[in-house]
Amino acid sequence: FRRLKDGLARTSSRIAEGIGAIFTKRKLDDATLEELETLLIQADLGVETAEQLVAGLRRERFGQEVSAEEVREHLAREIAKILAPVARPLVPASRPHVVLVVGVNGSGKTTTIGKLAKNWRAEGKRVIIAAGDTFRAAAVEQLQVWGERAGVPVVSGAPGADAAGLAFDALTKARTDGADILIIDTAGRLQNKAGLMEELRKVVRVLKKLDPAAPHDCVLVLDATVGQNAHQQVEIFGDMIGVTGLAMTKLDGTAKGGVVVALAERFGLPVYAVGVGEGADDLRSFDATSFARGLMG
Ligand code: GDP
Repeated sequence: FRRLKDGLARTSSRIAEGIGAIFTKRKLDDATLEELETLLIQADLGVETAEQLVAGLRRERFGQEVSAEEVREHLAREIAKILAPVARPLVPASRPHVVLVVGVNGSGKTTTIGKLAKNWRAEGKRVIIAAGDTFRAAAVEQLQVWGERAGVPVVSGAPGADAAGLAFDALTKARTDGADILIIDTAGRLQNKAGLMEELRKVVRVLKKLDPAAPHDCVLVLDATVGQNAHQQVEIFGDMIGVTGLAMTKLDGTAKGGVVVALAERFGLPVYAVGVGEGADDLRSFDATSFARGLMG
């Protein structure tokens, strides 16, 4: 919880300072509520969520004197309610449980896969990683480093090898080895949307030949620093192959952590994990109350 709070420091200091400036012994009136709404929109909570939060505060406290502290507490409570339904961990239910990881290049896919592998390994699970972005040599190498560190085998192919073929081989190996979880990295070249879609769909098609229920999860990795652009990425990848949950990265490096609330409100997708740093231990499970409190400082 402490680390999550630290990780959100940039977002929370912006919101908390803003609220402090608005509510210095002032009555809750139209002007202060308007300012608060603007502040929440600036922190990427989204227009609808900001309106809804402000309307709630208006109903409860309009015309009364409120302290910044009370406003922060009220908002943290309401935001926790919005986040509670999406705070669901990724629970492997099949064996092997196939997790396809998608997202644009640079979003933190490789790092998140490494952290997930390490966490599951630490829980005693048998994990295999498939380096499915065969065109990015750097990504394959990075995964190998993460794999070595975590004691997790990494299945890779020749540079430019067919991603679907690699996924097939990896799932075959996962079944033979009795692995609990297979994590498959994928390409993230969004500049060639049609090509990417075809590649991802082929991976899914081929996996289904071995297990009709695979992939059991499709995790979209989203860089929180992109703010509102995250909405578009959810739509694009959702249309391409369907997304079952999100991993939000780089919350430590942004004042845009509020986007998680906006995404929860709009898409209702589970947030499986949040990244608050580059290190192996910097992936947190997502807790609604901690996150909401972290956001409000
Ligand atoms: P990919 O291209 O999607 O595979 O992205 P990478 O996993 O290579 O990550 C891109 C950069 O973001 C790397 O420098 C990572 O160390 C960094 N990164 C990933 N997750 C986080 C995070 O939660 N916090 C911070 N600060 N950096 C991160």
